[in-house]
Amino acid sequence: TRTPVNVTVTGAAGQIGYALLFRIASGHLLGADVPVKLRLLEIPQGLKAAEGTAMELDDCAFPLLRGIEITDDPNVAFDGANVALLVGARPRTKGMERGDLLEANGGIFKPQGKAINDHAADDVKVLVVGNPANTNALIAQAAAPDVPAERFTAMTRLDHNRAISQLAAKTGAAVSDIKKLTIWGNHSATQYPDIFHAEIAGKNAAEAVNDEVWLADTFIPTVAKRGAAIIEARGASSAASAANAAIDHVHTWVNGTAEGDWTSMGIPSDGSYGVPEGLISSFPVTCEGGAYKIVQGLDINEFSRTRIDASVQELAEERDAVRGLGLL
Ligand code: NDP
Repeated sequence: TRTPVNVTVTGAAGQIGYALLFRIASGHLLGADVPVKLRLLEIPQGLKAAEGTAMELDDCAFPLLRGIEITDDPNVAFDGANVALLVGARPRTKGMERGDLLEANGGIFKPQGKAINDHAADDVKVLVVGNPANTNALIAQAAAPDVPAERFTAMTRLDHNRAISQLAAKTGAAVSDIKKLTIWGNHSATQYPDIFHAEIAGKNAAEAVNDEVWLADTFIPTVAKRGAAIIEARGASSAASAANAAIDHVHTWVNGTAEGDWTSMGIPSDGSYGVPEGLISSFPVTCEGGAYKIVQGLDINEFSRTRIDASVQELAEERDAVRGLGLL
C-alpha cells in the first residue's frame, strides 16, 4: 500500500476549489492508485464554507481520500505538502490600481512561500493558479530560497487547452489530433498561443490553417479573452475549466508528456528563447520522471517574436513592480 500524497489547496472554499477538490480526491490529479490527504487553507471567513465542502467530500466516500484537514494557518497547511495548489488570491476589484493588486497578493504569496520553504516535503511541487499567477509564483518562490526554484510554476494550461479547442473547431480536427501547441509568456491578455510548431494529425497546423488574418484577429484574441467571454455568458468566471487545467498541469508534470507531444507551463526561465532568466514565463515543455524540460531549438518567426517579446516585457514590468514593493 502506498503512502498517501499530501495535497494542499489554498482558497479551497472558492469556486475553483469546489470544482477541483472532488477530482483530486477521486484520483484524477495523481492517478487512480495514489491515495491522497487533503489540506485546505482558507482565510478565517472562508473556513466555514471549506468545512461544508469537506462534509461533501466525506459523503463521496472516495476510496483514495485518506483525510482532510482545514486550517487558516499556512504553516499547518503546507506541513509535509508534496503538491501545493495555490488557488486563493486577491481579486482585482473596481478602482484598484495594479500596484495595489500586486501588494495585496504579495501579502498572501510571500508568507505562503515562506511556509512552503519551512514546512513542505522535500519533493514539493507548487502550482500557482491565483492571479496574477506568474508574478504570484515569483513572489512565493523568492520567499522559499531552500526549495529548488523550478518547483514553482504558474498555470497556462487553461490557455493551452483553450487554444487546442479553438484550433480543433476551426479545422474540424479532433482535439486528440492536435499536438505541440505552445502558450508563451504571461497568463494575461498578452499571452501568445503559437500554432507555428503545432501539428494536426501530423501536419503543420499553421500551414493547414493558412490564414494569418484569422490567426492574428480571431484565434489569438479569442484564446486570450476567453475568460471574459465566459464571465459574460455564465455570469461567473470560469471555474470547472480552470480546475480541470490545474489537474492537467500537475498530472502531466508528475506522469509525463506523451511521446511526440509537449505542453505549456509557466516556469522560471533559464534564458531560453530570449526570456530573461528568472522570470516565470510560459514555455513549451516536456515532462518525464516528475521533471520538466524546455523544448529547445524551435525556430521563432517574426510574427511570434514580436508577440513573445511583448508578453515577456509585461512580466518584466510586473517583476520590477513587486521588487519595488520589496516583495522579492
Ligand atoms: P476562484 O476560485 O474563482 O478563483 C481563484 C483564483 O484563481 C483567482 O485569483 C482567479 O483570478 C484565478 N484564476 C486563474 N485562472 C482562472 C480562470 N481561468 N478562471 C477563473 N479564475 C482564474 O475565486 P473565488 O473568489 O471563488 O475563491 C477564492 C477563495 O480564495 C475564497 O474562498 C477566498 O476566501 C480564498 N482566499 C484564500 C486565501 C488563502 O488561502 N490564504 C487568500 C485569498 C483568498 P481572477 O480573479 O483574475 O479571475
